[in-house]
Amino acid sequence: MSKMEVKTSLLDNMIGVGDMVLLEPLSEETFIRNLQKRFEHNEIYTYIGSVVISMNPYKSLPIYSADKVEEYRNRNFYELSPHIYALADEAYRSLRDQDKDQCILITGESGAGKTEASKLVMSYVAAVCGKGQEVNKVKEQLLQSNPVLEAFGNAKTVRNDNSSRFGKYMDIEFDFKGDPLGGVISNYLLEKSRVVKQPRGERNFHIFYQLLSGASDETLKLLKLDRDFSKYNYLSLDSATVNGLDDAANFRTVRNAMQIVGFMEDELGNIEFKPESRVNGFDESRVKDKNDLKEMCELLGIDQSVLERAFSFRTVEAKMEKVSTTLNVAQAYYARDALAKNLYSRMFSWLVNRINESIKAQTKARKKVMGVLDIYGFEIFEDNSFEQFIINYCNEKLQQIFIELTLREEQEEYVREGIEWTNIEYFNNAIICDLIENNQNGILAMLDEECLRPGTVTDETFLDKLNTVCAEHQHFESRLSKNSKFLTDHSLPHSCFRIQHYAGKVLYRVEGFVDKNNDLLYRDLSQAMYKANHCLMKLLFPEGNPAKVNLKRPPTAGFQFKASVSTLMRNLQTKNPNYIRCIKPNDKKSAQIFTDSLVCHQVRYLGLMENVRVRRAGYAFRQAYEPCLERYKMLCKQTWPRWKGPAREGVEVLLKNLEVPEEEFSYGRSKIFIRNPRTLFFLEEKRRQ
Ligand code: ATP
Ligand code: MG
Repeated sequence: MSKMEVKTSLLDNMIGVGDMVLLEPLSEETFIRNLQKRFEHNEIYTYIGSVVISMNPYKSLPIYSADKVEEYRNRNFYELSPHIYALADEAYRSLRDQDKDQCILITGESGAGKTEASKLVMSYVAAVCGKGQEVNKVKEQLLQSNPVLEAFGNAKTVRNDNSSRFGKYMDIEFDFKGDPLGGVISNYLLEKSRVVKQPRGERNFHIFYQLLSGASDETLKLLKLDRDFSKYNYLSLDSATVNGLDDAANFRTVRNAMQIVGFMEDELGNIEFKPESRVNGFDESRVKDKNDLKEMCELLGIDQSVLERAFSFRTVEAKMEKVSTTLNVAQAYYARDALAKNLYSRMFSWLVNRINESIKAQTKARKKVMGVLDIYGFEIFEDNSFEQFIINYCNEKLQQIFIELTLREEQEEYVREGIEWTNIEYFNNAIICDLIENNQNGILAMLDEECLRPGTVTDETFLDKLNTVCAEHQHFESRLSKNSKFLTDHSLPHSCFRIQHYAGKVLYRVEGFVDKNNDLLYRDLSQAMYKANHCLMKLLFPEGNPAKVNLKRPPTAGFQFKASVSTLMRNLQTKNPNYIRCIKPNDKKSAQIFTDSLVCHQVRYLGLMENVRVRRAGYAFRQAYEPCLERYKMLCKQTWPRWKGPAREGVEVLLKNLEVPEEEFSYGRSKIFIRNPRTLFFLEEKRRQ
């Protein structure tokens, strides 16, 4: 090893070890101590091979300057101290130079720093790719889509003052030179229930507060709005203002961003009506305060009597017959809230489409793509409902991709290359995915079946069905069957079921499952909205078109989500994955505290120990013989300027000549496998001399 210069950045024990693969001895305890040491020295990034762990510093660090960008630009991944820029650079160069589409998968729990990480990646890539006026405009538009979506899709929660309440996947597209052309954004499952109700200590979506604090007096008058939050029962009051959040200033930022993204002035006006929907109070299912209703109708251009009727009656069509029933007070409130939720979430999707219109690439030529996924991490609360179920399902799928692409690929490659390998046992969560998504008797399929079944359907009948189907099989199938992940025992609280997710056991309460999955808007309401004079309403409520009365049920929420997750997974599978695993050090939003138990929990459910084990068992780096020889042939007289024999032998001669210890590498069928990143530094260093 004498000749190997060891880079201090990765091995300096003062600030902890930069790559967990090099941690000695390795245990959960040393892993966490290492994270802690680094956190205390403001070293928030740590590698596991090519995976980046990012610890939320909860303070701004001077590590994202233009100088830093220059420092990391065009450098090898392991050359400098761990940084998210190193990952971004590697991904970008591999896309540009090797024509490999990339995806950046960012996971972690709420408040761990996913959204910040995704913005850092985007801004890094924007800083290093292409130049020129046109290109700059594209970059600016891509970056400015963030504040717009955050205003409408983020909210203050108890966990995070700027929590994303939707999942986001963005494909950034490049031309063959690596200059940006545009992008496409997909959004997943906006938490629309927040529009009408917020948990204690949380707020509605930022935009409402921004609008009321930041819009001019004229605008508010035009929108019939009042600055006083307390007039709106959809806006929570106990935490209407958030420390460190300047709603008024953010409103200006958002408007500015919308203009850059390419919204027209009148479009801005169009979507600012939303904080309405404040129809207050029903009385015997009649609207009590007609003034609010009148204002809303004026704004949306709806005939007041039509909407009033829609809030009072419900028409059910069955076999050519129309039956009108009166709504009771509870149903009327339900209808009002359903309308508000639907209006907001459809508007949000419209907004995403509208942004896509603006930022889409203006060419049909083949594009290179970098996808960035920022999606809610695994959620285990005291009370878990349909939303958590869906979110956790998505995380199971992401974990599966992670397992498939990294762990399995890694092992299979060794086998393919004929390299000796001791098999590593890992937990394959495919059975949990199957338990949820199987078309016949998966939980989502059973829920759909229940929702579509005629007769009295309740959350309880759904639960009965689950218990019967999942528990029945349990006795007959082996422990490895998916049903062993559906846990039934007599200690379960009433109306609950439990699933053994890869990240832990989660107890779900069935209350609301049927309703949320059905996601029905009374047809009278969608028809009333369709009749509005407001051009957007026809777009948002197409099913309200009387000419297109469709007796078929719209797809359920679960069905739609499953379909979009499956599209996402197919998309990700075609790309080269890059992982950022975000961890939050404490739940106090503090820069000083490191809570062992909290970090330990995250390390476990992100599967990080498993990740290190596989990495350590294997080789940190591999490269086909030809490019390897091409790159390093200059280091040895026998291979320079040209090696005449097979590339593999050339590499052998080269490494021998450089006296790299033999245990440091293995010769595969087509690739050289290098055990330790240090060997790579050594070679790179030599080249530079
Ligand atoms: P959610 O799932 O709720 O959307 P998230 O993982 O996206 O959470 P972020 O919004 O990215 O979390 O981060 C929460 C907060 O933590 C940020 O608003 C910021 O204050 C702080 N933070 C995160 N990453 C960094 C960073 N790299 N530097 C400084 N502060 C950070
Ligand atoms: Mg977020």
